[in-house]
Amino acid sequence: MEIIKNWSGSMVFTPGQVFEPESEEQVCQLVKQAHSENKKIRVAGAGHSSSPLIKTEDYLLSQRHFRGVEDPDPETNRATVPVGMTVKEAGKDLFRYGLAMHNTGDVDVQTLAGAIGTGTHGTGVELPNLSNMLYGVKMVTGTGEIVELSRETDEEAMRALQVSLGSCGIFLKMRLQLEPVYQLYRREYCVSLKDCMDNLEDLKKNRNFDFYWYPRTDLCKIRIMNTEKDKMPEIPYGSLELEKEGPSHEILPRSRHIKFDEMEYILPQEKAIDCFFEVRKQVKEKFRREVAWRILVRTIKQDDAFISPMSDRESVTISLHHNAGLEFWDYFRAIEPIFLKYGGRPHWGKKHTQKAESLKEMYPHWNKFQQVRQKYDPQNTFLTPYMNELLISAE
Ligand SMILES: Cc1cc2nc3c(=O)[nH]c(=O)nc-3n(C[C@H](O)[C@H](O)[C@H](O)COP(=O)(O)OP(=O)(O)OC[C@H]3O[C@@H](n4cnc5c(N)ncnc54)[C@H](O)[C@@H]3O)c2cc1C
Repeated sequence: MEIIKNWSGSMVFTPGQVFEPESEEQVCQLVKQAHSENKKIRVAGAGHSSSPLIKTEDYLLSQRHFRGVEDPDPETNRATVPVGMTVKEAGKDLFRYGLAMHNTGDVDVQTLAGAIGTGTHGTGVELPNLSNMLYGVKMVTGTGEIVELSRETDEEAMRALQVSLGSCGIFLKMRLQLEPVYQLYRREYCVSLKDCMDNLEDLKKNRNFDFYWYPRTDLCKIRIMNTEKDKMPEIPYGSLELEKEGPSHEILPRSRHIKFDEMEYILPQEKAIDCFFEVRKQVKEKFRREVAWRILVRTIKQDDAFISPMSDRESVTISLHHNAGLEFWDYFRAIEPIFLKYGGRPHWGKKHTQKAESLKEMYPHWNKFQQVRQKYDPQNTFLTPYMNELLISAE
């Protein structure tokens, strides 16, 4: 029996069996086998989600053998990425072909399939989440058939598959819309919260901008990236902490050595600053002693994927970090109602307490998503008890 743990160690389970198929045919066979034995099957990436998306008592699949970028096309800036590749591996491989992703999250150790599956995002008002790269997909459906779809052949299905939490099919290969390689300049400054807020509109004009607020000191770390050096702003009110430049795939992500648990909500941008100040007030009043760590605020461009947390609205994300190993639910549960009050939608891969009943109300295209999900997984082979609570129990 293999015990599976997520990165922070707060989500632990023992699947019935773990498989590492080496061919597309084997994936089909495993899904058919699960289906005929009335078992559920979940596909895992790098296990960096802390919500129990991949938790199962039946079959768990790793696709680590599916690697190596294929069919790079410099005219359309598209390439095919097999699903076992991490963001880091894909970034390096694509670079060799003169291609790059428009953004990454804070780290690059997730699989690209897992990151796309939950709508993982970086920061930048003009930059949508990573799932927006998904142009086409080859996948195994819940009945074990291989299908290939693209935005050209089936736009509606792609809007469902873009962020689909492994609930519509097991992806084998992803055709991605990329960009020609580009250079990034990165600077990080320490500033006061007041200066950060007074200059927010200017700071948001940078290609990538986000800030960490540190509850104990009331200081912020701002992080800025641009493609041209002369676009890097002077920040006379801040002290420079870090300066770097290089190809985008090396500059966007950072390494994380201190493990943490996280709750992140995605808010309509016009409500986010009021929400941030209400969260800050609560943290200062009730959690200043317990919460030694920071709160991260990022901006994301809207998209039109049916259950992307950024769908149909320009978004700002606020995330609570709490050191791994410490009790985090008291803190997260106390702040979550504030996020909800301001119209927040939870990050699918992080801690939250939402279920289908409330999620359904947050997503105007929920029913369209369900139609596509039912089409590709008619027997609910991918729906474990958690996935059922998350996606179905309201129906
Ligand atoms: C240290 C750390 C930093 C992070 N930083 C960010 C950040 O900056 N921004 C952000 O938005 N999030 C961030 N996250 C969250 C993380 O990006 C997501 O949880 C992501 O989904 C994890 O990817 P994974 O490869 O570990 O996939 P998993 O967590 O294993 O799986 C995620 C989902 O993808 C599905 N999936 C995986 N492979 C396939 C496939 N082949 N076919 C179909 N479905 C599949 C799974 O079934 C599951 O539903 C961070 C998490 C950690 C631990």
